[in-house]
Amino acid sequence: MAQTVAFFGLGNMGGPMAANLVKAGYAVRAFDPVPASVATAVAAGCSAAESEAAAVAGADVVISMLPNGELVEALFLDQAGLFEQLAPGTLVIDCSTIAAASSRRVAAAGAERGIPVVDAPVSGGVAGAQAATLSFICGGEADAVARARPLLAHMGANIFHAGASGAGQIAKICNNMLLAVHMVGTAEALQLGVDNGLDPKTLSEIMLKSSGCNWSLEKYNPWPGIMDNVPASRGYQGGFMVRLMQKDLGLAMATALASHSSTPMGALAQSLYQLYGELGGEDNTGLDFSSIQRIFGGED
Ligand code: NAD
Repeated sequence: MAQTVAFFGLGNMGGPMAANLVKAGYAVRAFDPVPASVATAVAAGCSAAESEAAAVAGADVVISMLPNGELVEALFLDQAGLFEQLAPGTLVIDCSTIAAASSRRVAAAGAERGIPVVDAPVSGGVAGAQAATLSFICGGEADAVARARPLLAHMGANIFHAGASGAGQIAKICNNMLLAVHMVGTAEALQLGVDNGLDPKTLSEIMLKSSGCNWSLEKYNPWPGIMDNVPASRGYQGGFMVRLMQKDLGLAMATALASHSSTPMGALAQSLYQLYGELGGEDNTGLDFSSIQRIFGGED
């Protein structure tokens, strides 16, 4: 019989991830407080759960893909208290990007009830979620990660085991701090070229074959109209929102503070994303993070 998965958080990422599990033959029960997200999941073949409790009744696996750690802790420990309702042995995979300390709290509470918890934040964006090419960066016990692998393999192309509980989150925020740094660097290099008469497309082609080549330039060019199918070419809609990048940079800075690590480039990127979030009284936090390009001025 098909395994039943309770899926919490059917947003930009969770929606397509759940759809890929349906395609792989899992029975997926979707729960999200936003009706439109549930409707999209149902159109993809999930069944709508009336409540958190209804979603997990008899489920073999619980997956969550939520915006932040407070919501994850509220779901498993506090308000919804899911751990009280799960049978021992039910596998929990939290794919949200949250503080490592939060992941460790959830995992410790699960362990007390015999519920293995894997933190499995992802990299690869909405396109990766749709194409099932995400990278999962896991933290937790080796046998729990081994149990998670077959499911994750239907939603992603790479599955890493970074270490114990919380290690997936640490690796993820190191990655996203670097992502913010090279996105800002790419945006300022493009603007410098344009300010000096270069065509941003030609400059992009040159840098792609030169030592400035990086993921932002290759997969996610922030200048509008250079690449198809990236947020920059659709008004910076969809993708990875500025507010989520602000969250990840905040997590990176809190982690650096605790480990006495020096992260000057990350600190500057955090400051720029904070500034940009409300630049000129506009709320830019719902735009894709590549829209940081706009801070540098544009064509004029
Ligand atoms: P999103 O805001 O599009 O989706 C989050 C969904 O969670 C929303 O539909 C919201 O209604 C739902 N939700 C909130 N509380 C809930 C609850 N208690 N139960 C069930 N659902 C609940 O965000 P997203 O872009 O899908 O990101 C989700 C997570 O993935 C975040 O932690 C983010 O940092 C991470 N992430 C996002 C991207 C990206 O490119 N968007 C890439 C990698 C990682």
